[in-house]
Amino acid sequence: MEVHKALKKYFGYDQFKKGQERLIKGTLNGKDVLGVMPTGGGKSLCYQLPAILMEGITIVISPLISLMKDQVDSLIEMGIPATYINSTLSQKELNIRLDNIKKYKYKIIYVAPERLNTYIFLNLARNIKISMVAIDEAHCISQWGHDFRPSYLEIPKFINSLDREPAVSAYTATATKVIVEEIKTLIGLKDPIVSVIGFDRPNLFYQVVKVNDRFKYLRDYLDNNFQGKPGIIYCSTRKTVESLTKRLIEKGISAIGYHGGMDADTRQKNQDNFIHNRVQVIVATNAFGLGIDKPDVRFVIHYNMPQNMEAYYQEAGRAGRDGQPSECILFYSPGDIVKQKLLIQKSTYSSKREKMLYENLQYLIDYCNTNDCLRNSILSYFGEEIQDNRCNNCGNCLSESEMVDITIEAQKILSCIYRVKERFGVTVVVQVLRGSRNKRILQSDLTKISTYGIMKEYKEDVLKEIIMTLISMDYIHMTADKYPVLKLTSLSGRVLKGEVKVYHKKDLLESKSKTKTRKVSADYIEINYNSDLFEKLRELRYELAREKNLAPFMIFHDSSLKEMATYFPQDKESFMNIKGIGLRKYESYGKRFIEIIRNYCEEKEIDTSNIEVIEKKDPIKDNDIDRYQLTYECYLEGLALQEIADKRGYTVSTIIRHLEKCIERGQMIDWSSFIDDSTKEERILKVIEEVGLQRLRLIKDMLPDDISYEDIRITIIKNRLNKGAVSK
Ligand code: ADP
Ligand code: MG
Ligand code: ZN
Repeated sequence: MEVHKALKKYFGYDQFKKGQERLIKGTLNGKDVLGVMPTGGGKSLCYQLPAILMEGITIVISPLISLMKDQVDSLIEMGIPATYINSTLSQKELNIRLDNIKKYKYKIIYVAPERLNTYIFLNLARNIKISMVAIDEAHCISQWGHDFRPSYLEIPKFINSLDREPAVSAYTATATKVIVEEIKTLIGLKDPIVSVIGFDRPNLFYQVVKVNDRFKYLRDYLDNNFQGKPGIIYCSTRKTVESLTKRLIEKGISAIGYHGGMDADTRQKNQDNFIHNRVQVIVATNAFGLGIDKPDVRFVIHYNMPQNMEAYYQEAGRAGRDGQPSECILFYSPGDIVKQKLLIQKSTYSSKREKMLYENLQYLIDYCNTNDCLRNSILSYFGEEIQDNRCNNCGNCLSESEMVDITIEAQKILSCIYRVKERFGVTVVVQVLRGSRNKRILQSDLTKISTYGIMKEYKEDVLKEIIMTLISMDYIHMTADKYPVLKLTSLSGRVLKGEVKVYHKKDLLESKSKTKTRKVSADYIEINYNSDLFEKLRELRYELAREKNLAPFMIFHDSSLKEMATYFPQDKESFMNIKGIGLRKYESYGKRFIEIIRNYCEEKEIDTSNIEVIEKKDPIKDNDIDRYQLTYECYLEGLALQEIADKRGYTVSTIIRHLEKCIERGQMIDWSSFIDDSTKEERILKVIEEVGLQRLRLIKDMLPDDISYEDIRITIIKNRLNKGAVSK
């Protein structure tokens, strides 16, 4: 069967997502492949589809046994015979499955890494034809990653023990270069086809908030956003998980906890309840989530700070796998960061790992303190080229600056640390600065130093917060001793001399969760569905899910139900036109859903005769063509960039990108008409020659303010510079 046919028949999709086809074809040609794709990018399909088409059996190695059942259930729902082998099976059940495997009753077998090299499994594997070994969450093999699983290191041994060489495919959402390289070498991929695709998740809204009363803010958020819709709240400790869950329940919110201290049964039960939409919110430590592929998580809130940027993107990325608008909110707390720093300092990691963890944490700190676009900040961490200065879909792009200049305060604090000879911790430094009348202070010499009492007007916790901010930014070092002491760092001098300014995120005064309405990217405008019918379809889905003990999304995704409530399909052909509905799904559920749709249309006297002829288009593709052409026509009218942007409702950078596409398609554009001052181009080129093209930001910083990002981009395009050509 041809790949597109199989895509439609089993998965119900008409098109591949970015990167999928190349990897799938590579596997089918017997090549090793490595797919680096963001969460929700559709990695599973990349090995599941070839598995159906290839002769023999595919072994999928996956880290979390608690999720295998869900994955297998989903496959069976699509008509793909699959099973799993892990420690949850009884001996009897295991034997039955092994027997069936020998009889080739399954195409796909999920296996826990710990099981691979057991005698029984090895023995079995040698006697069946294994055409592919797929390794999901492949970064678990890397010790530098935050999800390291020692048992992953056993995978190559298993592969090498097989008589016939299978195609090996590895998948991960971790893009860090070190880790990607390590995956390649440790697994021993042979000349693999590597596909790394964009890490942007346009449907995710990012925000960093700094609030005094986290709980109040959270409640307010839950009251005003995504009522009843699934969400994850991450906390750093088991204790916080317990207490927060309790408080939420007391306020009438449907919440459940999850952490490593619970017994396995409770954990599994709680996770199931969340996945099956029986509770709204799961409050969890980072023990929760690896491999969770619930598609409809609408928000991920970090009640405490995550470990570092890498971890943050993984955790936040669990929102919105289905591509629908979803939110990632991070509660910023300098105190939490200091705790993370101390943890690294106290650890016994190798110095290489320690350095990496620090850098990774530092990136997160910068993320919390920046006023620039948060999406861009994330993307540049993953080494991606930035397209627009502002994404218009993150907290920073949408709200006014909330930064306060605290340079003076920082100078006072730093000189106080200097005056007390770097011998005291936070408490004493704060007491000295506030001119405390505490007995111990009065009895010491500290009252005589020049910084005694110079910050009388500041409240104790405000001062502490500023100190934590300074520690997080490395202007102060806090020792990891039993009684931590504050010391100056190599950067402190720059603040004292006034060479750098220090900014501090201001607390949100009211606990308002949103400031402005946001512009959802054009690709995510929701179709206009009949919500009344949608609810009815949802009820049926819930009922069926209960009957079969499945998660609702395993039957149909929300997006499929929304399409049903838009196109009112009433026969096999139109029903199977709905995205995400393959043959088996139609056979299992088509009749019951069509019945509801038909009754609804009759009852409401909806005339569907002309709806049916609406041909379903690929919205993105068609839009793109129109978009670029419309922009080009504005250009031909002789409008300036800003005018085109206003007219078309895009940012100037987007307009530039459209015009670039037009050039690619062979249309003519005179770029110099867009630069108002002819010396600009020269000046820009000179800087580019000096610093290269790697970082637009750096080029911008080296130039005076009258030169904008747009000027730089136009110069680059006009002169057809590409990265290789100029960089030093
Ligand atoms: P990942 O493992 O990369 O995080 P998944 O494999 O869980 O992502 O897929 C994410 C979602 O994308 C799933 O709901 C899946 O059904 C959907 N999906 C996968 N491939 C396609 C496709 N070609 N077209 C539409 N949706 C797809
Ligand atoms: Mg996955
Ligand atoms: Zn932004």
